[in-house]
Amino acid sequence: MDTPHAYKELGLSPEASDAELKAAWRRLVAAWHPDRNPAPDALRRMQAINKAYQHIRQLRDEPDTAQAETDPEPASEPAPPPEQEPEAQAQPDGGPAPHVRTVRLSLEDTILGCTRSLRGHFTHTCTTCVGTGQRVLAQACSTCRGSGAIRKPTLFGWLWNEEGCPDCSGDGRQRAPCDDCDSTGEVRVAYHRRVRFAPGMRSGDVLNVPPAREGAADVRLELRVEVAPHPFFTLDEQGVLRCEMPVNGYAWMTGRWVEVPTPDGLQHMRLNRDAQVYRLAGKGFPNGLKGPRGDFIVKVVPVFPPLNDPAEEQLLDEWIARTSQASQADESQPLGGWQRTLKQWQAQHKD
Ligand SMILES: [Zn+2]
Ligand SMILES: [Zn+2]
Repeated sequence: MDTPHAYKELGLSPEASDAELKAAWRRLVAAWHPDRNPAPDALRRMQAINKAYQHIRQLRDEPDTAQAETDPEPASEPAPPPEQEPEAQAQPDGGPAPHVRTVRLSLEDTILGCTRSLRGHFTHTCTTCVGTGQRVLAQACSTCRGSGAIRKPTLFGWLWNEEGCPDCSGDGRQRAPCDDCDSTGEVRVAYHRRVRFAPGMRSGDVLNVPPAREGAADVRLELRVEVAPHPFFTLDEQGVLRCEMPVNGYAWMTGRWVEVPTPDGLQHMRLNRDAQVYRLAGKGFPNGLKGPRGDFIVKVVPVFPPLNDPAEEQLLDEWIARTSQASQADESQPLGGWQRTLKQWQAQHKD
């Protein structure tokens, strides 16, 4: 029922005061009450009058929310006019409201993609009874016979007071406990879904899982990805995967092989004393969702462990002596060339 129609039903203009509204409603209820009025459409008129009165009352009490209020309609009634569609429940795409939850993934999961088994539950307002715990039936309320009001005798036996019917909230319709929610007004929905996360998701990304039937409800999940901090991999703003790792400085100096962790597992990498930054092609983070993988950047930090005992010092001395000897023998090498220059200089300044 729209607002102009409601005023028309009560024979009022929208400027009518609250007192005039109440008086008109009482007058019409008295005139159309099925107890007194034998006309075949008395009940229907009675319901229309109550509906109009409630509509205007609601509008005046809560002018901002009255338009979005939903009016529970039994299935047997003709379809309501479009302006009465329950807008508060409607979703932009007409589906159920999504259940939002956060899913925490490891960095490896986001690089390689993963499948997660998600279990959970939530409650939502029962759609059958719109949260009231009671279904509205097509037949008239047995307490007030559909009038929406009950009469109580006053102290003087020939006068009657009219009060809103407590069993139907004044709309004149019979109520019954809602079986779909055990009269609680809320329905608990448990879900279990297997969800595939494509490679390349980042913190803050949202994954909308298409609705699926879970028991009596359609469940739509809206998953927010949160990537757990990693002990040694970092993903920079540009989506480049990086790792900084300490290496033994002697191994770095001598071009030894080391094991480097990659998202796919450990990998051998040969150190080079001229380089501290290494690029492992195709081992990094995907370029965009499901895109090819970028490069993985490894920065090595050479660490020279201190020599703690005489045996280590001696080993190092021997090693320096041996390598110097071999290197000094070759005069085309810097050390050999230097030794020759030094000897020539000494020979010139002998005396
Ligand atoms: Zn219910
Ligand atoms: Zn009633």
